[in-house]
Amino acid sequence: MQRADGRVRGALDDLGVTTGDVDRLCAVAPDDVAPAAHLSFARNVFVPLTTACRYTCTYCTYFDPPGEASLMTREDVREVLETGADAGCTEALFTFGDKPDDRYEAIHARLDAWGHDSIHEYLHEMCELALDVGLLPHSNPGDLQRDEMAMLAEVNASMGVMLETTADVDAHAGPRRKTPEQRLDTIRAAGEVGVPFTTGILVGIGEDWEDRAESLLAIRELNERYGHIQEVLVQPVVGNERWNGPTPDAGTLRRAVAMARVALPEAVSIQVPPNLAPVREVLDCGV
Ligand code: SF4
Repeated sequence: MQRADGRVRGALDDLGVTTGDVDRLCAVAPDDVAPAAHLSFARNVFVPLTTACRYTCTYCTYFDPPGEASLMTREDVREVLETGADAGCTEALFTFGDKPDDRYEAIHARLDAWGHDSIHEYLHEMCELALDVGLLPHSNPGDLQRDEMAMLAEVNASMGVMLETTADVDAHAGPRRKTPEQRLDTIRAAGEVGVPFTTGILVGIGEDWEDRAESLLAIRELNERYGHIQEVLVQPVVGNERWNGPTPDAGTLRRAVAMARVALPEAVSIQVPPNLAPVREVLDCGV
């Protein structure tokens, strides 16, 4: 087990995640769960508002470094939204990495020229645009403070951020390190403002089975407090130009999905991204 560091350990203890619960969840196998009664999918149009991100996760190809990152204009966003609406989409999925830091001078200069102090303000305006076009906004803007969450919740049908793992993994290494306690705080903030929320775990970034169980149980406990988790993703890391580590095999994914199904109540959907995982091989594990 990579073991959560001291601050995360404290947060997990506060949530009531116990060693006994972790051990019981680790004992779950695919045969312990039944296939879901039905499968569903979201008709969403993907809006990558910016490729800037203050973090540098070692498995991620989404972010671009300062000087290379894109920022969609209002016109770009409107065109994508209208194309999606015309194609029958019902949801606008706004993604970016995490709040761009000061290195992204060009991004901040453009936001300033467009009359916004932050990417979150701009996102708010783009969510209003999505509503005008007839789409339900769902935003994934990374870690948020409670006031940022409250501001964005006004214009989002739902929001999300991946917990990924409660473990302290090298994949999040670097001077701008993404931390599990920030992620837990973001999920808690979503609960406090009452916005329906999607989160999940990333499988294969250096965590082990106890870490996966601990992460799923942390999500469960936050949902028990706030009742705001609508969906939990079980997402495998995949090889790319920044990640040359192993990709979890189907057996690993099947077991992780089964654990998620057991950890979360039936009202919470378990999702495996069909573009990143062998979905057919996990359909009987509670997806
Ligand atoms: S926070 Fe997200 S977008 Fe940013 S580097 Fe990490 S995985 Fe990529």
